Order: sequence, then structure tokens, then C-alpha cells
Amino acid sequence: MPAPILSPGPRQPVLFIGHGSPLNVIQPNDFRPRWEALGREFGATWPRPQLILCISAHWLTQGWWLTGMAQPRTIHDFGGFPRELFEQRYPAPGAPALAHVLATELRQPGTDTPLGVDEQDWGYDHGCWGVLKPMFPQADIPVIQLSMDYARPPADHYALGQQLRRLRERGVLIVASGNIVHNLRTMRREAANHQAYDWAIAFDRQIGEQIAQGQLDDLQHFLQQGELARLAHPTHEHLLPLLYAAGAADPGETVRFFNDSFQGASISMRSVIWG
Ligand code: ZN
Repeated sequence: MPAPILSPGPRQPVLFIGHGSPLNVIQPNDFRPRWEALGREFGATWPRPQLILCISAHWLTQGWWLTGMAQPRTIHDFGGFPRELFEQRYPAPGAPALAHVLATELRQPGTDTPLGVDEQDWGYDHGCWGVLKPMFPQADIPVIQLSMDYARPPADHYALGQQLRRLRERGVLIVASGNIVHNLRTMRREAANHQAYDWAIAFDRQIGEQIAQGQLDDLQHFLQQGELARLAHPTHEHLLPLLYAAGAADPGETVRFFNDSFQGASISMRSVIWG
């Protein structure tokens, strides 16, 4: 078990990863090789993280919670996929002592209430392990997941992301996992990666430009894009993780995109590295 402290160290980057289909973790695709290459940059471009804090589109709760198990289970939170996908495990340790430290340092947005610590219910959902397994296949860096309160407005998610920024100087790698465009109703499984709907391209481009220009505060107002936002996100849980990553970034910080193409015509895989 890791010591319940986070030592000051060189600043970690912040990652937003477009995760797309759960099958991306086992079937050949254009995206996973980039996740694998990104993982290899830790220990080279950046120091090895002391802890990974993962915000996934797939853990929605009332209030905000951190996982606090010593050995979080791998959750297969999907159906209708091959058995091989259900056999995947990600055995990275949790960090219960650190979860309690972070829960008391962080605040539920707009309140003085600490975050909750979940010691038995959740684990690693596929938004988390589906990208961490290719990035860090050794599964030897402790991981804590942070849930999202979907009932709360985007500004609250961005505000909590801003609280996470200072953790980057303490060896914490923030990995936010969602999709900048995510409409399963219009998804066309036969579509090649680069064929996307005009509205999907337009929303992805708009968000991409805001990120590239450091207009990070503007991202929390995505619902103001009206019909375009509703098409891109019939429900917006896959965009919310971006607000955590953007909140933890600095507007003037170096930003890079990768995997900036589409899966199934209405899933943007655009991913972002700050730092
Ligand atoms: Zn997802």
C-alpha cells in the first residue's frame, strides 16, 4: 500500500481521453496505439505519476465520491459484447488512505462539504480501465476514480476541476475519460473513422477551437450551443469529464490534440493533453 502522502514533484500533465466503444480495448483500431504510446511518455517526457485520478463518463452519483477500496474491482458496465471483453481485468491497486486525504482537501462545489469516500460499491468502470489498461498495462500505479453528480450544472463540474489543478504538483495524473461528441442514437457502426455528420464535425471543431485558444472558461457554457449541443450530446455525461480536465489546466498551457477523428460517425475521439 502506498504511503498516504503525495510528495511535491514536477507538474503532471492533464489528459482528456476520448474512449469511444468498449471494444477499442481489445479490437484493432486507430486509437489504442496512441493510448499505448502516451503511456510510454511517463517516465520519459513526464515523471511517473504517484497516483492516477480518473474521472469517467460512466460513474454518475448524487454528490461527488472518490473510490476508497484497496483493490477496486473491474466493472464491465456494458452488454452485448464478446466474452473476451468481459474477461478483461485491470488490477491496479486503489489508495484508500489517499482517498480519505483528498476527500477532506476537496469540496463539493459551492459548499464546505468534503467529498464522499465509497469503500464498497464502485471500482473501475470501462471509461477508466478501458483507457488505463492500454496506457499503463503493468497496472502498478494506484488509481482513484472520482464520480460526477449529473444533476448539477456544468459550472459545478468545471469548478471541481479547478480544485484538482494543485494536485498536479503532487504527482497526481488527472485522466478524464469521455467523448467531445457522443450520440449513440445516430451512430453508424459501418462508417469509417473519418466520415462524420456535419453537426458532429461542427461541435467538435467549436470545442477544439476553444481549447486551442485557451478559452477554457467558455467550455462550461456548451449548452448555449442549443440544437448543436443537443445533437452532439442527447445526454451530456460524456462531455462533463472534459470540464474537469479543462478546470485543472491553465489557459496559457501548452495543449496538444491526438486521435482527432470520429468513430461511427457521431463519436468524436478527439483527445487532449495539457502540459
Ligand atoms: Zn462511454
